[in-house]
Amino acid sequence: MATKKEKITLQTPLVDIKKIGTSKALALNKELGLSTVEDLLLYAPSRYIDKSNMTSIKEAKERFKQGEQAIVHTKVRLEGIAMIRTKNKGRIIVEAVAVDEEGEKIRLVWFNGASWLVKWLKSLDEAVLYGRIQKVGRNSMGISHPELRKSKGEVDNSIIPVYHIPASLGRKKVTETQLKNWIKYLLEEVEDIEEFLPEFLLKKYGFPTRKEAFKQMHFPEDMSLAKKSKDRFKYEELFLLQTALLIAKKKRVTVEKGYKIEKSGVLIHQFVNEKLPFELTDDQKRVVKEIYRDLQSGHPMKRLLQGDVGSGKTLVALLAILIMVGNGYQCALMAPTEVLANQHYKNFLKYVEGLRKEDGQPVRVQLLTGSVKGKKRKDLLVALREGYIDILIGTHALIEDPIQFKKLGLVVVDEQHRFGVAQRARLLAKSSDEDIIPHLLVMSATPIPRTLALTVYGDLDVSVIKQLPPGRKPVITRHFYENNRLEAYRFVKYQIDQGRQAYIIFPLIEESENFDYANIEEGYERVKNFFGPSYSIAIMHGRMKPADKQKAMDDFASGKAQILVATNVVEVGVDVPNATTIVIESAERFGLSQLHQLRGRVCRSSHQPYCILITGKLGIDSKKRINAMLKTSDGFKLAEIDLELRGPGDLLGVQQSGKDIMRIADLLTDRDTLVNARQDSAFIIAKDPNLNRFPKLQERILKQMGEKLFWQRIA
Ligand code: ADP
Ligand code: MG
Repeated sequence: MATKKEKITLQTPLVDIKKIGTSKALALNKELGLSTVEDLLLYAPSRYIDKSNMTSIKEAKERFKQGEQAIVHTKVRLEGIAMIRTKNKGRIIVEAVAVDEEGEKIRLVWFNGASWLVKWLKSLDEAVLYGRIQKVGRNSMGISHPELRKSKGEVDNSIIPVYHIPASLGRKKVTETQLKNWIKYLLEEVEDIEEFLPEFLLKKYGFPTRKEAFKQMHFPEDMSLAKKSKDRFKYEELFLLQTALLIAKKKRVTVEKGYKIEKSGVLIHQFVNEKLPFELTDDQKRVVKEIYRDLQSGHPMKRLLQGDVGSGKTLVALLAILIMVGNGYQCALMAPTEVLANQHYKNFLKYVEGLRKEDGQPVRVQLLTGSVKGKKRKDLLVALREGYIDILIGTHALIEDPIQFKKLGLVVVDEQHRFGVAQRARLLAKSSDEDIIPHLLVMSATPIPRTLALTVYGDLDVSVIKQLPPGRKPVITRHFYENNRLEAYRFVKYQIDQGRQAYIIFPLIEESENFDYANIEEGYERVKNFFGPSYSIAIMHGRMKPADKQKAMDDFASGKAQILVATNVVEVGVDVPNATTIVIESAERFGLSQLHQLRGRVCRSSHQPYCILITGKLGIDSKKRINAMLKTSDGFKLAEIDLELRGPGDLLGVQQSGKDIMRIADLLTDRDTLVNARQDSAFIIAKDPNLNRFPKLQERILKQMGEKLFWQRIA
């Protein structure tokens, strides 16, 4: 039965679908990351319009006046469509008035309008309006950037899926109607939609089968089916991810080979007995034990060490490194900035001074950053390759290609959220033995909420340091508006007169590719004017030469400078215990986790630490951030709040955002689903690690784990 029709499977590339056409298929790929038929079918509606659940303009206005959330959702026609060109860089504002079937009116505004928008609005006879009423202008109500949809044809359906079409896709002439038509066509044509979730799970959650779920998600018969179907795909996505991660982890701790340590070695004992200036906290001891166990296992360690700023992670890293070096291995410690690498280097030199390896030799520490150049660099690389360096500390220069170790046993990555996943993977690839993977310890002071940790680091073991070293006082945080700045500065002066030091931090504003330093330069002048010549003030920011930065840092660390005016380069890891006050200027411009990191700079001694946030007028979100800072100094709580305010992308940095990994599920709203999925896959894998009882699932997972992209995302 020969057929002329194209044969379409879930894996067929969209560019091969004639109905879509090459240029639009490419647009879908570029703007939404969709490349196969399955990708498109998994592009879920962002929400559904339930026609039985509309709100007239009048009703919504009433709610707005009561101070409630007021969404207008009704059929309207438009009048008074107008385009206003503003003086500001020729920006165009588009306005219109929507009139609903009761004759009630509401103003609509688009602040970044364009002439095509006007044209399109004029072409609308009737539309369904959806949007939240706000104050527009001084005393009128309106809706900015409302959603308007041609209502023709669709008004009879009782449930209408709404797809998010980004403007960039709209510009490439892809419309929602087209998208729906393609999906409809594909659902009719695709032959191989099979179920791969175990049946007992479908039963457990009452999910429809995969095929049915596709149909009901895109063309729902009723609201609950639509929801169940979308839930199924969210679950499916999280379940596959968790299963792959758990299998990867299982493989690592059973099959993959790592350097096996037989003893803790002489160095750690010398250090603890002779050099360690204080007692380790219980948490530090526990984590060192956990690491030691990993190193003895014969399998590669992959451990995330989370601990709030100032909890003493560096020391844990040092102890792990001393164990490895004591067993004859080289270690690498990678830090995100030169300043931090330098600081680690200096500390490590002090820590290992006088220690003797089994062969009586001292422990050799070297520093490799971008500033180490020429012959010095060349010699260093040779020494490293020949095994004459035990501990190499550096920045991302460590992962540059020509660098070779003789016997790299352990890689420590400090402040790991600053590095991309790919960078981490590259350092591990420095292994000197083809089939043995070095141990990996990543440290992060940005507490990662549990849900996020499960998703992104699901295959890592996690250690947490909760306890701060003894004698630390809780930081006192205060908020000042700019017009009270002098009061804040007077307080700083008082602290300095007591013998303490202070940071004054300015935000660095990124404007396209150029940085704007006006802020800190202006601020520096102001600080100098206020404090006068009898106080010594150092300045440090990213545009200075590394040597100048280092000098500023050294002056501050040695106490020669009492005040360090800086951009957020000091955010990560810098350790000057006598600096007990930090002033953060324009604090509203910093993210919550940045603020928390900055505040951590002053919690490193037994003196009372202070954090002063100076801001201009606060918006809704910045007010929430400042309030959160005033309310708690618990990094994990702040991370949760941050996750809620900003979404996972910002928290982890672009490369590791949950968004890359997940298409349908959302870390904020689907946490319960994530936890369920994790439990279910752990349950299955514990009994049946190779998924032999679930061949379809097995096939699917193998495919997913074989995808390079998958490993780049989670490596
Ligand atoms: P972080 O976890 O932010 O990297 P650090 O490792 O920089 O913290 O440690 C912060 C400060 O606390 C350092 O000055 C360090 O010497 C000190 N410290 C670490 N562990 C202890 C401890 N057990 N007792 C007292 N001080 C400690
Ligand atoms: Mg640190």
